[in-house]
Amino acid sequence: MLGKFEDLVEKASEMGLKAYFMSVKDIPVENRIALKCAYGCKSYGKRLSCPPHIMSVEEFRKVLGEYSSALLLLDERDTSRVQDVLEAWTEIRKDSFHKMYELEQEAFREGFTFAHLLRPGSCNECDICNLEMCVKPEMRRFAPEAVGINLQKAMEEAGLVLEFCKPEKTICIGILLLE
Ligand code: SF4
Repeated sequence: MLGKFEDLVEKASEMGLKAYFMSVKDIPVENRIALKCAYGCKSYGKRLSCPPHIMSVEEFRKVLGEYSSALLLLDERDTSRVQDVLEAWTEIRKDSFHKMYELEQEAFREGFTFAHLLRPGSCNECDICNLEMCVKPEMRRFAPEAVGINLQKAMEEAGLVLEFCKPEKTICIGILLLE
């Protein structure tokens, strides 16, 4: 069933990532997700990978319509011994992003010329984001939820459950669009 995606799933596994094939039509994009960014997130607007510095939900919906396949990527970490998970999240998501980014590059090399990663969390390649102009534009990616993807539903479509408020297990989630 995986066909031409099999190599990438294997490569993901070698990196410690779980990869689940998804049809893009099963990835829900909802306007209401934008509420969570604009009203309630203390980091709103502080990074160029976040709203309002990125494409709108409506623009993303159109872009997504030009893809048919994706890999849902999960990087699960045991954080049961971590005292401050929120503090650890900075390094965890950076490390996770680097793995997923490498997978995106591999996908391109394998012929998926429009491979594009939606990264876990906001970009933190720099300690403080240079809001004037991105200093590493080749690595600038936004998160699925930043453009309205309902990750909880997307995971359900893949037969998975997204659990909240579980500090003993931290999961970085990315989506690799493939075409
Ligand atoms: S690479 Fe740096 S400047 Fe660019 S979006 Fe990320 S944190 Fe901001």
